[in-house]
Amino acid sequence: MSEPHRIVIVGGGAGGLELATRLGDSLGASRRAAVTLVDRNETHMWKPLLHEAAAGSLDVHAHQIDFMAQAHWHHFAFRLGALEALDRARRTITIGAVVDAEGLAMLPRRELAYDTLILCVGGIANDYGTPGVREYASTLESAADAERFHRRLIAACARANAAGEAGARPDVNVVIIGAGATGVELAAQLRDTTHVLASYGLASFDARSQVKITLLEAADRILPPLPERVSTATAKILADLDVDIHVGERVTRIDCSTIATADGKLLPYDLVVWSAGVKAPDWLAGFGGLTTNRVHQVVVGDTLQSVDDPDVFALGDCAQTPWKPGVPLPPLAQAAHQQASYVARMMKRRIAGEPLTPFRYHNYGSLVSLGDASAVGNLMGGLIGGAMFVEGLIARVMYNANYTLHLAALHGWARVALGSAGRFLRERTEPRVKLH
Ligand SMILES: Cc1cc2nc3c(=O)[nH]c(=O)nc-3n(C[C@H](O)[C@H](O)[C@H](O)COP(=O)(O)OP(=O)(O)OC[C@H]3O[C@@H](n4cnc5c(N)ncnc54)[C@H](O)[C@@H]3O)c2cc1C
Repeated sequence: MSEPHRIVIVGGGAGGLELATRLGDSLGASRRAAVTLVDRNETHMWKPLLHEAAAGSLDVHAHQIDFMAQAHWHHFAFRLGALEALDRARRTITIGAVVDAEGLAMLPRRELAYDTLILCVGGIANDYGTPGVREYASTLESAADAERFHRRLIAACARANAAGEAGARPDVNVVIIGAGATGVELAAQLRDTTHVLASYGLASFDARSQVKITLLEAADRILPPLPERVSTATAKILADLDVDIHVGERVTRIDCSTIATADGKLLPYDLVVWSAGVKAPDWLAGFGGLTTNRVHQVVVGDTLQSVDDPDVFALGDCAQTPWKPGVPLPPLAQAAHQQASYVARMMKRRIAGEPLTPFRYHNYGSLVSLGDASAVGNLMGGLIGGAMFVEGLIARVMYNANYTLHLAALHGWARVALGSAGRFLRERTEPRVKLH
């Protein structure tokens, strides 16, 4: 009997973990393929939840998925470690050594052979080379980043409260640079959670008047990729939440206490978040001799295979995927989700020696969450025949549906129902905002 086809997926994020699970359940369970997932972390977290984790309205530990357990239940193997090298001639990748929390060696540097390699390593914040971003700004790229920002927020509020007990009334200046979906969602969520936080015993601190939230955007309106109507409605909701919006404002430098803009403004800050763009990781530029674009994404064709090598696929934020003429696919969880489903289908064809059919993206619109009870966005597609503006609770329910679909792809609907019930009960016995 011939050896099973070796599929190696690198990156267990929104796209990669869904793909590993689907392929494990189909080709892995029937031993038609040996499916391996590689990730530098031990757990998965769906990135669109990170702004809620940063604001403290969500406990990251309740939403992390353990790769080893997922692999055990869904017939794939998990290898811990960062992808370091690719040898396309020998069809091997090198996974870096892993050390434990105390710095002791845990796993050695290893090689792993593949017949099909699928890169799903995601994206990172694009600072466009702006001085001071890496040193002073928080980014929301991982659960650890979100937790770090949250700890800084609690500390800043506690400091303001202590100063209040001594008779002062200092502001806590939070500046968010980049008014795309992440920046806008974080601003709204912060208003919600700092208000609740203040009610938990910070008696000398008034969150509404002392937490100043400022959104800076270089384009001439917030949410630039979304329709103008969504942007206008969102700006109004943010204004009602006392979020100060500055558009047409390009940041040129950040130092330890101020943000400088192109037109000469100097804005003081206590906390600054950079959410102004996405690129693929720097190490991916020219990785393994693959063609990459100026934001380091692997250039793929309409079957998501690298333009250089049909044995290497790439999807999600790390890939430049053709979409509309001259416009590549946007870096969105819904795109990674559709690409993962597509590649799972195509792997069956590839192993059977059948030709691949092209990937087609269906844009279902974009929704932006604006705190606990609201969301705004536009829905597109065949079901509603064109574009439709939605807001309020209905939009919020639809926004939550994206995460539910992700969980269903990972666990099936029965476990999603049980998990949601468990979370609902837990949330009723815990503080609304994480306090540490
Ligand atoms: C704060 C925030 C909010 C967002 N909100 C939304 C939203 O509301 N709607 C939406 O559609 N999209 C949203 N996005 C975008 C969405 O999260 C991404 O488009 C999506 O996660 C991309 O999926 P991916 O599989 O390409 O990569 P990711 O989900 O980023 O996963 C990448 C994986 O690769 C692993 N990895 C990276 N480097 C290596 C390496 N060298 N070796 C091994 N493993 C590696 C990482 O550990 C990670 O597990 C948001 C993003 C952020 C940051």
